[in-house]
Amino acid sequence: MELFQQMAGMGHERVLFCSSPEVGLQAIIAVHSTVLGPGLGGARMFPYQSMDEALTDVLRLSRGMTYKAAVTGLNLGGGKAVILGDPKTDKTEALFRTFGRFVDSLGGLYITAEDVGTDVDAMEWIYTETPWVTGVSAVHGGSGDPSPVTAFGVLQGIKASARFLWGSDSLAGRAVAIQGLGNVGYHLGKFLLEDEKAKVFGADVDGDRIARAREAGVEIVPKEQILEVDCDVVAPCALGAILDDKSIPKLKCKIVAGAANNQLADEKRDGRAVHDRGILYAPDFVINAGGLINVYHELTGYNRERAMRAARGIYNNMLRVYEISHDEAMPTYQAADRLAEERIARVQRMAPQHWGQHWKKTIRERALPRNGV
Ligand code: NAD
Repeated sequence: MELFQQMAGMGHERVLFCSSPEVGLQAIIAVHSTVLGPGLGGARMFPYQSMDEALTDVLRLSRGMTYKAAVTGLNLGGGKAVILGDPKTDKTEALFRTFGRFVDSLGGLYITAEDVGTDVDAMEWIYTETPWVTGVSAVHGGSGDPSPVTAFGVLQGIKASARFLWGSDSLAGRAVAIQGLGNVGYHLGKFLLEDEKAKVFGADVDGDRIARAREAGVEIVPKEQILEVDCDVVAPCALGAILDDKSIPKLKCKIVAGAANNQLADEKRDGRAVHDRGILYAPDFVINAGGLINVYHELTGYNRERAMRAARGIYNNMLRVYEISHDEAMPTYQAADRLAEERIARVQRMAPQHWGQHWKKTIRERALPRNGV
């Protein structure tokens, strides 16, 4: 009964427990919402210490996907899968093909993707069993590395934040401090330097990534100081939970807007604390939706230009969130939740389950090249 209560409390539609001892598969697929479309979300492979830990993770993450898709304006619901295992030792073709059959059994209510511990090879194995998978290789219509699209979306979010705060979205001469110069952080730095003529500070823990960014024109600062740089914008692009009761009082920026997931250590407490300090916080699931926009476009025939153009929409989404936050005097994370919930409620009233046939047709068309090979 506890699980039913949990599902009811968080609003989940389905939870599928997948077991196949022959291939060592233990997995959970959670479909949080299919109101706006099929629940899309990655399959995470992780050596969870207990079933409870895995279940908590999949319920939380799948719900997060519903909000991200809704606020981004995509015709997707929210879903996620966790596979209990160690990606270093347990990744086998048999396991992922079996997992693919479980995904297939949901008939398109859940579409899987890459996540922590899974990769293109895993998606290809899944694809041999079901068309309900993204992140496959380019020959099967895959979209490749999402980070340039994510970085471009983050740039749109930063520009919208500037517009809201200063009345102009020009970042020329503005100072931005990027925590983490990896896939997203590096591309973001290049956009800021080359297209926006901004001043960019950066920090990382990896020497190669620091060298690459320095060469592009980023001024490197010690990693312990990056959140405290005297600047206009801090862009967290490394780790989650970096905004807490220790870091928030030390921020010297006016805007926090970056790609990292779950930046607020405690959503309610720290979301409120940033708000009360008068710092504009771009909710992470709004600003980092470029990755999701990217795989979404796989479903209708991938084209990078189109995905980039769609990521521009993050600009207006962000402005809308700030307007709600301003009008309702609420922290921005709460305004973003509100925006997502309103869209879901509107569609639920209008056209429940209307998307089904459209998506099934789209995916069947996409599956054709595989059958033709
Ligand atoms: P990445 O692993 O390529 O980059 C992260 C970088 O942060 C690495 O270079 C790492 O060395 C650095 N780092 C780690 N600890 C650090 C520290 N204490 N201080 C400074 N740097 C540190 O990952 P990525 O793909 O660039 O993603 C960055 C963040 O954005 C992650 O939180 C990810 O979940 C999120 N995100 C990424 C995408 C995407 O498309 N890649 C989409 C949505 C969200």
